[in-house]
Amino acid sequence: MDPWKHRSEGMKCKTCMWFSPKENKQGIVNLGRCRRHAPSMNGYPVVFVNDWCGDHKLNENTYIDQEATVSVKFP
Ligand code: SF4
Repeated sequence: MDPWKHRSEGMKCKTCMWFSPKENKQGIVNLGRCRRHAPSMNGYPVVFVNDWCGDHKLNENTYIDQEATVSVKFP
């Protein structure tokens, strides 16, 4: 049993202020980079919109399409 199964719902990268989105050619964001910490030799870590971690901090300035499962609209 995963005790974090539902507790992580509000902590996804797509709602995090440290998430830097990357659009594909269709204008859809499926992944981006996490800018929570300084980059390593490989740059900033690549994360998917539905990844999450304990450092999540809500980005209140970002419009989130709650109905989307794999895509997010950014202003
Ligand atoms: S990995 Fe953590 S800190 Fe980085 S964007 Fe995702 S939730 Fe935010």
